[in-house]
Amino acid sequence: MKIAIDIDEVLADFANPFDKYIQKKYGLKMDRDKWNTEEWWLAWGGSKTTAVGKIYEFVSSGALEKLPLIKGAKDGVRELKEQGHELVIITGRAADWMDTTKIWLDKNFPKYFSQIESTDFHVAKGGHKTKGIIARELGCDILIDDFPHYAEEAIANGVKVLLFDTGFNHIYHEHDDIHRVKDWKEVVEKIKLITHNS
Ligand SMILES: [Mg+2]
Repeated sequence: MKIAIDIDEVLADFANPFDKYIQKKYGLKMDRDKWNTEEWWLAWGGSKTTAVGKIYEFVSSGALEKLPLIKGAKDGVRELKEQGHELVIITGRAADWMDTTKIWLDKNFPKYFSQIESTDFHVAKGGHKTKGIIARELGCDILIDDFPHYAEEAIANGVKVLLFDTGFNHIYHEHDDIHRVKDWKEVVEKIKLITHNS
């Protein structure tokens, strides 16, 4: 199968280092339940423009290159690759962060991904194509993500989703093609199951 994988909170831990940065610099604490929603900037009670500004500041400080891995991501991605799946990256990161992003991916996942795409989601206007459209155009069967909005885009484009369990899930509706996972071990198990049943 062809599998699209998100970066932040799936491969890389962006939220914890960013939360620490915001706390130290602004004395603000992130509301994690809001961070993972369509209106993620409300995690600090401010506007989207202010929140995007803070993310850019954090990234400009060189943080992106140093982001830690999500637990189990390295082994999970390696296992998927060993099982013969084609792996691609579809991230919502800004287009101008992609050089640094590729350096981080090369360091942690050398030669695992055949394509790396960005929706440029977090800039003020956002990119032209949604993750769902990109996933469909690339011929992906599955998207692994943590963001419910992307999960909806993917299923609307005929792409199944493995959705990492985060704080928002209690308000999120179930769908046959959205499978919740709690960690990378479960990702690998679910993909084995989906491959077997398809
Ligand atoms: Mg993410």
